[in-house]
Amino acid sequence: MFQIKDLVKTYAPKKAEPVFALRGVTVDFGETGMVFILGKSGCGKSTLLHLMGGLDYPTAGEFVIDGKSSKNFTKEDYDNYRNTCVGFIFQEYNLLPEFTVYENLAIALLLQGKRAEKSVLREHLKRVGLELDEMRRPPQLSGGQKQRVAIARALIKDPRIIFADEPTGALDEKTGKDVLALLKSLSKDRLVIVVSHDAEFAHAFGDRVIEMADGLIVADSAVSR
Ligand code: ADP
Ligand code: MG
Repeated sequence: MFQIKDLVKTYAPKKAEPVFALRGVTVDFGETGMVFILGKSGCGKSTLLHLMGGLDYPTAGEFVIDGKSSKNFTKEDYDNYRNTCVGFIFQEYNLLPEFTVYENLAIALLLQGKRAEKSVLREHLKRVGLELDEMRRPPQLSGGQKQRVAIARALIKDPRIIFADEPTGALDEKTGKDVLALLKSLSKDRLVIVVSHDAEFAHAFGDRVIEMADGLIVADSAVSR
């Protein structure tokens, strides 16, 4: 249902040499499951995630979702895609630190045209295993709590695809595993694509592990258990 075809991304900084971040990536994804993308720093993982999520645009190539090519996306299609199809989770959470947990989630609800009632919001927090005072602000939360709030925020859209860029990079091992277990449970009924450089986590939690090197996919295999 989600195909990536010959995706190329060349960054052309004004005062530096061009960077060939993606050099032709082709890959197909199913409707559900947890897929890890592994690779060394600088190999193009985040670039690939950003292009797949419509946060940035390719130099060449396309993704195809439900038979529709991103090449034919209007600006409105891209907005729709970002607002309804995909959710993003980042290493540094990207919560708004000056706003309460309630407000961080309420903004996401309002953007979806949904009412930001406290009861609804508590349901969302419960879904990610959080019971906390929603009037607290991100700086008063632990890393694991912040990441769960970020996951709750992503889930408000009920996205078909969740993209997580090094979601455990700032967490200790135990908390990281808890967050991956949560993402794994969410992958039962949606596609979850996790960028990581931790092969052990990838093989422990992934249904499939894709390896990248130097802007290309160099390995792709199902995880047998
Ligand atoms: P990874 O996530 O695997 O560490 P990235 O996708 O962030 O890799 O980066 C791939 C390459 O593209 C790196 O060489 C990086 O320095 C470069 N790069 C990433 N973003 C930009 C940008 N906005 N401008 C110029 N070069 C970039
Ligand atoms: Mg990265």
